[in-house]
Amino acid sequence: MASAARVDLDGNPIKPITMCMIGAGGFIGSHLCEKLMSETRHKVLAVDVYNDKIKHLLEPASLPWADRIQFHRINIKNDSRLEGLIKMADLTINLAAICTPADYNTRPLDTIYSNFIDALPVVKYCSENNKRLIHFSTCEVYGKTVGSFLPKESPLRQDPAYYVLKEDESPCIFGPIEKQRWSYACAKQLIERLVYAEGAENGLEFTIVRPFNWIGPRMDFIPGIDGPSEGVPRVLACFSNNLLRREPLKLVDGGQSQRTFVYIKDAIEAVLLMIENPARANGHIFNVGNPNNEVTVRQLAEMMTKVYSKVSAEAPLEVPTIDVSSKEFYGVGYDDSDKRIPDMTIINRQLGWNPKTSLWDLLESTLTYQHRTYAEAIKQATSKPVAS
Ligand code: NAD
Ligand code: UDP
Repeated sequence: MASAARVDLDGNPIKPITMCMIGAGGFIGSHLCEKLMSETRHKVLAVDVYNDKIKHLLEPASLPWADRIQFHRINIKNDSRLEGLIKMADLTINLAAICTPADYNTRPLDTIYSNFIDALPVVKYCSENNKRLIHFSTCEVYGKTVGSFLPKESPLRQDPAYYVLKEDESPCIFGPIEKQRWSYACAKQLIERLVYAEGAENGLEFTIVRPFNWIGPRMDFIPGIDGPSEGVPRVLACFSNNLLRREPLKLVDGGQSQRTFVYIKDAIEAVLLMIENPARANGHIFNVGNPNNEVTVRQLAEMMTKVYSKVSAEAPLEVPTIDVSSKEFYGVGYDDSDKRIPDMTIINRQLGWNPKTSLWDLLESTLTYQHRTYAEAIKQATSKPVAS
């Protein structure tokens, strides 16, 4: 429960604030709301078009935090109530986005509108009303590593200077325009530049967050159960879906790309530090990831197969993975980030934050949740007779 005597990193008592959280009904928003309700006295004006993932925080009215969270079903594309909510709050956190790679090359217009155009009024209202903004960007703004352009056999590929991603030094390297995968990264980069410019020219107090593959319970959806059958979520939900249905996990282009995965609960600690330490967080861009949890996508598939077998007590498939081309899986215009290792210097110096949870441990708690939440529903869905 929230204790009255919480202090910030400089030992000052933390005053409860009101925040307008846009995209509060999504994966990250649901965990952030949970943390804010259970451990702080802050108030949340939760804005989203959906609230399924935060229903447990909104009902029943007898919940101890019932007077500290209010849900507003608003599409920020076209709702005049948004400015009023931003004015009522001390801080705005913008999480709203289309952020699943399957959409970047197949719905590039929606992706660009969602990640740039729709975020513009949020930045403008914060700037005009002198309100602090925490804007969620992405590690994808780094694009490809410098090292990926070196010859395959170059020893420099092993040198961290060619692949570790630094907020204030690394360039943003995207593919050609016809590779529409980069529509998302490019829109996110431009909104970062706009937020930064509002800070430089008009004094906007801002913090930009670049998440590096945050994963955990409630991420995305399981196709055919709580999302469209043909939908393609991010890799955690794709592989969970395959494991739940006892299908081989699909490795796009051989599963050679590398990612670092961080547990959502570790990452949320970092966001809470940003919320409660404005003097240390304002004006900064923060990588938030776990450089120790690096794997190739193939290794992720192998580890998830082992962990799922442990938590479900089902033997793994004899052939647990299959290769699939990116064209077949995502369609034309897909491209990939080769490797994503976050440099942690800035977040460590400003907020003293470090991730704690190993990849095995975070997969074990997440896949336990997936099994408990979906295994029965999948069994029922797959045993239904097909209509003739
Ligand atoms: P998510 O899709 O689960 O959540 C986004 C939420 O925004 C959804 O609930 C959606 O309904 C809402 N939303 C979208 N458009 C809206 C609109 N027009 N009006 C109102 N609500 C709208 O995604 P997430 O994983 O929680 O990501 C949150 C943010 O973090 C995004 O900006 C994303 O780009 C960024 N991010 C996340 C990760 C990650 O690892 N999860 C990685 C990189 C970047
Ligand atoms: N991927 C895969 N099989 C899947 C889903 C994704 O091999 O079923 C790969 C994808 O090509 C990418 C990585 O997994 O290399 C991570 O994909 P994700 O959708 O999580 O997003 P990203 O990290 O690329 O933003």
